[in-house]
Amino acid sequence: MKVLVINAGSSSLKYQLYDMTNESVLASGRVERIGMDSSIVTHEASGKSEVRSVSEILEHTTAVRRVLEMLVDPHNGVIDVISEIDAVGHRVVHGGEAFKQSVLVTQDVKLEIRNLFDLAPLHNPAHMMGISAVDTNLPEVPQVVVFDTAFHQTMPRESYLYAIPMVLYRRHKVRRYGFHGTSHAYVSVQAAAYLQQPLESLKMVSCHIGNGASCTAILDGKSFDTSMGMTPLEGLMMGTRSGDLDPAVVPFVMNKEDLSVSEVNSMLNKHSGLQAISGLSSDMREITEAMQEGDKHAQLAFDMYAYRVRKYIGAYAAAMNGIDTLVFTAGVGENSSILRKAVCEGLTFLGIELDEERNNERRKDVRIISTDASRVKVLVVPTNEELLIARDTFEIVQQQLQSP
Ligand code: ADP
Repeated sequence: MKVLVINAGSSSLKYQLYDMTNESVLASGRVERIGMDSSIVTHEASGKSEVRSVSEILEHTTAVRRVLEMLVDPHNGVIDVISEIDAVGHRVVHGGEAFKQSVLVTQDVKLEIRNLFDLAPLHNPAHMMGISAVDTNLPEVPQVVVFDTAFHQTMPRESYLYAIPMVLYRRHKVRRYGFHGTSHAYVSVQAAAYLQQPLESLKMVSCHIGNGASCTAILDGKSFDTSMGMTPLEGLMMGTRSGDLDPAVVPFVMNKEDLSVSEVNSMLNKHSGLQAISGLSSDMREITEAMQEGDKHAQLAFDMYAYRVRKYIGAYAAAMNGIDTLVFTAGVGENSSILRKAVCEGLTFLGIELDEERNNERRKDVRIISTDASRVKVLVVPTNEELLIARDTFEIVQQQLQSP
């Protein structure tokens, strides 16, 4: 079975074509600047070099058509005919309380995703455009939606409710949802498999730290608590997002600086985090380099970032009455040994002991970076959200085909 994975944004669309017989990526690419005058299509077939073309792509239906053309292109394509695509899997950011797992796309599912536009105004409408574009181009092909929030739907009420009037939860569904669920789910399964232990037996904290960042407490194989909230702004300090702060700061700053709702939103989401504290960059590589050259602001940004991660690990160890597995993933988590060291240095009281040499190794596979004596196993697990989307899509479509 061949599965096309699509991640549609408002002006971009990323894709991978998987052959599920061996879970290999046949081709991948992206369409950028959709709706602008010169849209860019970048396509790479496995084993061939990347090709790039510029044309006018005004909406997502045309973007998907261009992707399909690339996939069957005689020179750069990887399939002979479009009908070789058996299923399409979409990443959807917000599944609210309606979706606790990945599902086949039906009219009802589309309606539910639309009902969630309020909760994810920047993301869900774009995902719907991706789904409609596939409807138009591949009307016979089953589609599956995989939600960033679904994994966290197992959180108990004490984890997901905010201590504000309950009417706001009942009326507007204001609560913690959590994000990066696909990644947390994927790395937890990979880590347990690597340790050759049942996932259900582990008390795990997974740290997905990239541009966006979140920590999740995983108990009995399920999300028990997670640091992102109703939106992906809460929790850890991120590239350009503030993470946790006293909510009273918001009206105070709005008042003092005469800011509108959208301005303060933009400040917290786009002009805070590493970027704001370093005054230099939201990119951890640049922060680390500057810090090593003695830049004091970069050092402060790095220290604050690491401190927040450490605090959440400690909090989640308390929440689960223990921790035996700690996982680092995503751009910073997978690549920055110096950040991992800074986080773990203050956690020896929990039985976390990093092995310097293992931590400094540059590898791309799953690995343990704690010492043999460390009570908590610390792992680096490369995330692969697209593969999990492809797997869920494959399984759901298979079940559908087998059901009478
Ligand atoms: P996104 O949340 O956009 O998916 P990624 O998971 O790709 O982000 O992570 C991007 C972040 O990872 C950037 O801050 C980047 O600087 C950081 N990163 C990537 N490689 C390294 C590295 N070798 N050392 C430190 N940080 C790195």
